[in-house]
Amino acid sequence: MPNRPNLLFVMSDDHAAHAISAYGSKINTTPNLDRIAENGMRLDAAFCTNSICAPSRAAILTGTFNHVNGVTTLDTSLDNSLWNVAKELQAAGYVTALIGKWHLGHGPGADPSGFDFWRVLPGQGHYHNPVMLEEGGRIVERGGYVTDLITDDCIAFLEQHQADEEGKPFALFCHHKAPHRSWEPAPRHFTKYDDVEIPEPHTFRDDLVGRAEVIQAVRMRMMDLDPIVDLKAAVPDGLSEDEEIAWRYQRYIKDYLRVVDAIDENMGRLLDHLEVTGDSDDTVVMYTSDQGFFLGDHGWFDKRLMYEESLRMPLLIQFPSRIAPGSSSDEIVTNVDFTPTILELLGVERPEHLQGRSFVPLLEGAPPADWPSSMYYRYWMHRDGSHLCPAHYGVRTRTHKLICYYNDPLDQPGAHGPADPVEWELFDLVADPYEVNNVFGHPEHAAVQAELLTELARLQAKVGDEPFDHSGAPPSA
Ligand code: CA
Repeated sequence: MPNRPNLLFVMSDDHAAHAISAYGSKINTTPNLDRIAENGMRLDAAFCTNSICAPSRAAILTGTFNHVNGVTTLDTSLDNSLWNVAKELQAAGYVTALIGKWHLGHGPGADPSGFDFWRVLPGQGHYHNPVMLEEGGRIVERGGYVTDLITDDCIAFLEQHQADEEGKPFALFCHHKAPHRSWEPAPRHFTKYDDVEIPEPHTFRDDLVGRAEVIQAVRMRMMDLDPIVDLKAAVPDGLSEDEEIAWRYQRYIKDYLRVVDAIDENMGRLLDHLEVTGDSDDTVVMYTSDQGFFLGDHGWFDKRLMYEESLRMPLLIQFPSRIAPGSSSDEIVTNVDFTPTILELLGVERPEHLQGRSFVPLLEGAPPADWPSSMYYRYWMHRDGSHLCPAHYGVRTRTHKLICYYNDPLDQPGAHGPADPVEWELFDLVADPYEVNNVFGHPEHAAVQAELLTELARLQAKVGDEPFDHSGAPPSA
């Protein structure tokens, strides 16, 4: 067997790139995550193909789009008889482990598969004193803070692996629960940021005028947060609505950043551990999140939508022998590309059926001439639960974004009455990086609109997805 590198894949849950200082955060610093960027590459245009937890995890593990792997929504388990990257690595001689959040179902047909060891949170899990599950349904009760405990277990796995000295490489998947709602910090961070005012984002007071009606109806505004559950405080008396929105943002963002602080510290523990054991040079270290998040952008929290803050994933990768320190790439990659990339970095042959493309050439600073300049996105959960986000698909290129809110009433039976009208949005990301000017149907953008409609259809066909059957003809350019 060739001498293969190790893999440390760290994925958090809902960590937006704009809350990482390597990405130019204006609201926090993340010195340990930044170490990965300093040692390796920061990917500036890494996008998820469906901005919601379970589907993104399924896309990463299987290297396929959600209509292929079956996990289109939060309510679907991942069929564990399907191929996944861990199984492939195991077959290639890796010792594989998964510790932390799984969120792809439990039981014989859905438990993690392809891992020599796994210990996961049931469902979303708890921040404090969580219960964890192991193979065979064994329950492990833990005392402490979830991000610390997951890291403790990862370090214990690495120590055990080293002690076993079998000469096999490891592939460790460390999946944090944080910083998922409801943003509960570790006690040591309870009062951090108490004495500072976190800046509001540029689009915090976005009135959403000109955007699709279904977007204006989305319930992800500051006023939609539950004060007690999400903000851990009663709203002070006597605030105007504007003041209350500002107060809510401060409560929300500070807890979010406190929870991120524990991720950053624990990333530091893992990097330190690899340095002490001498594994740093032989280990591919990746940090990502299953999707982005709105940090008050457009007045919102949460994700789901194809807008930049939600679409974009942080993606930092270090591997000294192949990736130049302090490098970056603005080429488009997606979560479906992660697995082919991991396999190529580790020298494991990729199966034919994978839908993504390895971006190792980007990591090595040599983008191929035919590297894709667009990506396909689809979110299925039409007006689900309390967020009321519409189902939609779209295309993002290096300069533009086209979104179709197709509003399928069948996607969520009983959620509402007849189909909402189909609505479109088009953004010129160069002139309007904050996506506040919907120019769909504007004559001066007719040419690019026509190109994007064609590109959307091309990508949809290429990945084997099908357009929603619009009852009325969709607007054409
Ligand atoms: Ca998530």
